[in-house]
Amino acid sequence: MARTFNFSAGPAVLPEEVLLQAQEEMLDWHGCGMSVMEMSHRGKEFMSIAEQAEADLRELMAIPDNYKVLFLQGGASSQFAMVPLNLLRGNPNADYINTGAWSKKAIAEAKKFCETSVVGTGEESRFTTVPSQEELDLNPNAAYLHFTPNETIGGVEFPYLPEAGDVPLIADMSSNILSRPVDVSKYGIIYAGAQKNIGPAGLTVAIVREDLIGEAVPGTPAMFDYKVLSDADSMYNTPPTYAWYLAGLVFQMLKRKGGLVAMAEINQRKAKALYDAIDGSGFYANPVDVNCRSLMNVPFTLANADLDATFLAEAKEAGLVTLKGHRSVGGMRASIYNAMPEEGVQALIDFMADFEKRNG
Ligand SMILES: *Cc1c(COP(=O)(O)O)cnc(C)c1O
Repeated sequence: MARTFNFSAGPAVLPEEVLLQAQEEMLDWHGCGMSVMEMSHRGKEFMSIAEQAEADLRELMAIPDNYKVLFLQGGASSQFAMVPLNLLRGNPNADYINTGAWSKKAIAEAKKFCETSVVGTGEESRFTTVPSQEELDLNPNAAYLHFTPNETIGGVEFPYLPEAGDVPLIADMSSNILSRPVDVSKYGIIYAGAQKNIGPAGLTVAIVREDLIGEAVPGTPAMFDYKVLSDADSMYNTPPTYAWYLAGLVFQMLKRKGGLVAMAEINQRKAKALYDAIDGSGFYANPVDVNCRSLMNVPFTLANADLDATFLAEAKEAGLVTLKGHRSVGGMRASIYNAMPEEGVQALIDFMADFEKRNG
């Protein structure tokens, strides 16, 4: 069977060249006679893989020296708890911006540990826009400000970086990390589940400013304490070695392709082509304010929802899969992460035009 164009929101498409390299190295990594999956995480072979991956990620994102890069497990969902556990430091208040489903989950988890103030929300617009900086009702004494730069389900992305003064800014970048350059020094913590734009599921990356490490709430489990994990170079327990290795192959591929500046250009082209096709038709629609449309996750509806099942079935026939929208939003969603080639987006656009012609 030929490979499809896979528009899944996550776990998501991986770069074909990375999968081929992994296949080639599967049974015998660099002549050591075993697969990466079979290696001790403390052996020199895996240590070299781990160190290279971190160095490449640091280079790609220009991560300053006063940040730790942690390769963790537990997904972004564990970070929803780890952030308050590690950052409250006796402060009972944390600020959150609510821009959709993932923000809400982060808030619900933090409520177990502190008072959460929703200092800005897109709820009145049914999460089709994000609050502006002027609309944020920030608490200058909050332990931190948490936001979700890209809401994977609603397809809403911040067009600006919230400014919180001395309050550490925490970003759940699960679905847009590595999609464009960011100034890491503006953040206290950036975290991301790997399965969208980094690598396979099972790995979580956290980039944590060093001064925020070391004062976890008493009683914090070791596996949730940034200090324990950081002191052990992410090897307090057995890390997700194979996912770490594959993430490393993705980082090397991104470097070969020109890094995040090049990615941003391609991502803008892909997203523009798809949004132009949606806006230019009388048949497809996207409800999100133009200035905060996601470059990574593009939800869209058909003029007649009765045609949704037919659209999905025919798209699948055409090799375009996992386009069904999230159950909370309905319609379709095309996730077009770094690994989705431009030809994949063009194939979707062509299919959509043809489907409209026949059914519109
Ligand atoms: C997918 C996703 C999550 C959940 O990630 P897990 O790794 O499954 O815990 C959290 N936040 C955002 C923005 C996501 O896209």
